[in-house]
Amino acid sequence: MINLAQELQGVRTAAMAGHIRPDGDAIGSCLGLYLYLRENYPDIQAKIYLEEVPTAFDSVYGVEEISTDYSEDIEYDVFFCLDCADERRLGPADKYRKTARRTVCIDHHVSNGGFADANYIVPDASSASELVFTVLEEDKIPIHAAEALYMGIAHDTGVFRYSCTSPQTMQIAASLIARGIDFPSILSATFYDKTYYQKQILGRALLESMLLMDGKVIFSAIKAKDMKFYNVTSSDMEGIVENLLQTSGTEAAIFLYETGVNEYKVSLRSKNVLDVSVIASYFGGGGHVRAAGCTMQGSIYDVVNNITLHMEKQFLHKA
Ligand code: 5GP
Ligand code: MN
Repeated sequence: MINLAQELQGVRTAAMAGHIRPDGDAIGSCLGLYLYLRENYPDIQAKIYLEEVPTAFDSVYGVEEISTDYSEDIEYDVFFCLDCADERRLGPADKYRKTARRTVCIDHHVSNGGFADANYIVPDASSASELVFTVLEEDKIPIHAAEALYMGIAHDTGVFRYSCTSPQTMQIAASLIARGIDFPSILSATFYDKTYYQKQILGRALLESMLLMDGKVIFSAIKAKDMKFYNVTSSDMEGIVENLLQTSGTEAAIFLYETGVNEYKVSLRSKNVLDVSVIASYFGGGGHVRAAGCTMQGSIYDVVNNITLHMEKQFLHKA
């Protein structure tokens, strides 16, 4: 656990950053902490650094204050790494971690080895946003911080469906809802609503999907030329792998999209048995037991063969 008040003693400048290709939890945890500091520690100069935030988050309060410009050289008194498993996943924001006087990590990735001066890592927690909530004084959380934290928790739990949702998760969500936040709008705007092109690429991924290993695994891949054809980028792929996994009888889903010549971003998801974090870590990535990712080289067939080999081994081992 982290004593936030203690960490902020004497602090004049604070930065917060989450993982590259930021998702709802990375954005929500950073904004939640940022808006809390702005309200309760007005003398602290705080700044959020994230890579470009997907347009689905445009309506989120405070999102326009996130900096994507890393040109300034500032040595922060404290740097908060939120929802980020390792230094490399901070992307360009890592420069501020390196020069900060103190670093604090709040995260829920099982692959996080604890790379900061103070580490609060709970792999069983639903989200970094849930963990940020627990370090704040509840009655001092401003409404817009409550919205951000609710959003982060909702995204990482698939709106309270995944097994990472605990009684504590629901209690925290309840107390955030009790603040009077407009949660239906937050969920529609940032989670459920998709653009026409996002729907098209999802359809394409579903059409081209294949069942492998006697239907226990579902797989699909999208080539760069198809991403261009449908006018989509990496952030438009959000939700596809979860949709694939919602196929009766499957235990795991593998989704790839091409990020370069013979290079694929790989997303892995599982339901009950497989530990996909181990597989993603083996290939240089990481994540959680039921949701993990990595980047792999080779043809689509190389990538799938390599991953399914590891899945097969786990199935045999766990049978
Ligand atoms: P996604 O498949 O949605 O990109 O990621 C699923 C989970 O795995 C997220 O928690 C994400 O942070 C983590 N993850 C995805 N790709 C990588 C990667 O290349 N390296 C690491 N360390 N974690 C990843
Ligand atoms: Mn997360």
